[in-house]
Amino acid sequence: MKEEIRKGVTKLADLNYEYVYPHFARTVSAITDTVPGASNLLSPIMVYFEEIIAINTINSLYTIGEQFMNGGTQLASPEDILSVSAKMGLSAAFLFTSVLGNFFRTGIDKKMGVQPARFNAGAEIDFLVDQLNKRRMIKALSFQDTTPLAKQAVDDFTLKHEGVKIDSTNRVQRSFIPRLMLWRTHAIGFFNPFFQEVVFTTDKYPEAIAHEFAHSKGIPQERLAQFVGIASQIESKHQYLQYLGYLSWLNLVTHAALAQDPEFSKKERPEKTKLVNELLTRDGLNERSLEDLRSRWEFADGIDQEIMSYSYLTNLLADKLSNVLPSNFLEKIPTNVAEFCRVPERGIAKFRSDMMMLLTGQKNAQVAYSLEPALLLHDYKEKYVDQMIQNIKSARLARYNPRNKVIDNF
Ligand SMILES: [Zn+2]
Repeated sequence: MKEEIRKGVTKLADLNYEYVYPHFARTVSAITDTVPGASNLLSPIMVYFEEIIAINTINSLYTIGEQFMNGGTQLASPEDILSVSAKMGLSAAFLFTSVLGNFFRTGIDKKMGVQPARFNAGAEIDFLVDQLNKRRMIKALSFQDTTPLAKQAVDDFTLKHEGVKIDSTNRVQRSFIPRLMLWRTHAIGFFNPFFQEVVFTTDKYPEAIAHEFAHSKGIPQERLAQFVGIASQIESKHQYLQYLGYLSWLNLVTHAALAQDPEFSKKERPEKTKLVNELLTRDGLNERSLEDLRSRWEFADGIDQEIMSYSYLTNLLADKLSNVLPSNFLEKIPTNVAEFCRVPERGIAKFRSDMMMLLTGQKNAQVAYSLEPALLLHDYKEKYVDQMIQNIKSARLARYNPRNKVIDNF
C-alpha cells in the first residue's frame, strides 16, 4: 500500500515536471526578466526568516490571547472556512507545481543510470589533478561572461539527459545585502523558485553559477544540483567551464575524502584548509589551480570569522559579563551554550539549515554538498566521462594519423 502511494506520487510529480513545470518556468522567467531585481525582494526574507516567523507567532498568540480575554469564542462561518480552504488549496497547488513536486519526481540520476559509488580518493584526486593540469593555461573569464555559458551548459545537459526543456531567467542578480547574507546563511548564491531567478552574493565562485541554474531546471535537491552543476560544466564545449567543473569536483572530493577522518572533522577551518592545501601540493596540482582554490578557502574563512548584526551586541554583553561574574561561575557554563550566547545567529542559522534538510528529506548539509555528489560523480565518471575522454583521444588520433590522411586524399 505504502509502495503504491509512493509510486502514485512519483507519477503525479513526473507529470507535473513534464507538462506543468515547464509552462510555469517559462511564464515566470519571462515576467522576471522584465522586472530587474525581482529576487532582491526575497533577500531580506532569506536572511531574517526566523525573526519574521517569531514576530508572526508572537503577534498571532497576542491576537488569540486578546480575543480570549475579551470573552470572544465566536466560531468561524461556513463561508470563512470555505474561503480559507480554497486559499490553502491554491497555495498547496502552487507550491507543488513550483518546487515541492520536483522533490518527488524521478531524479536525473535515475534517468542517467548513475548511482552513488564508493571510490578510491587517491585515484580520484589523481584523475582530477591531471584534468586541471591539462587546462592550466585556459584563459579565465569574468563572472559576468561566465554566466551565459554556464546557463547554456546546464540547459544543454538537462535537455540531453532529461528530455525536457525548461526556461529560466537569463541574468544572475546581485543581492543588495551580500555580506550579511553570506555570513548568516553561508549561501554564496541562491535560487528563488518563485521568480525562477538566480541571485549571487559574491563573484568569487563562478563554478557555482551552474549549480544555481541546475535548481531552476526542477532539481531542488542539493546533492543533485551539485552533481548537475559540475557534470554540465564538464560536458560543456567551453574549456574554461570544464576547468571550473573539474576545480569544484576536486574541491569536493578532497573535502569529502578528508572528512571521513574524524580527526579532520574536529579541526577548525584554517587547519582544514592547510591540510587540503598540503595534500594537493603533494599530488602535483598546478600553481594556478592551487591559487584558485586557495582564494576560495580564504574567502570562506574570512566570512566565517566576521561577526555581524546583533551578534555585535551579544558579544559586547558577554565581554561585560565575563568581567563582572566570578570565573568559577563562568567555567560551569557548557562551551556550546556559551558559544551560542556569544553568536546566537550562528546557532539559529545552523538550526535553519538542519530543519530545511529534514523537511525536504535530505541528509545534513555537509553530506549533501560534498560526499553525496562526490559518490554520484564517481559513477558518472565511470559511465560517461571516461568514454568522453576516450572519444576525444581517438578523434585526435584519427586526425593526426598519417595513414588516415592517405585515405582522405583518395
Ligand atoms: Zn543549492
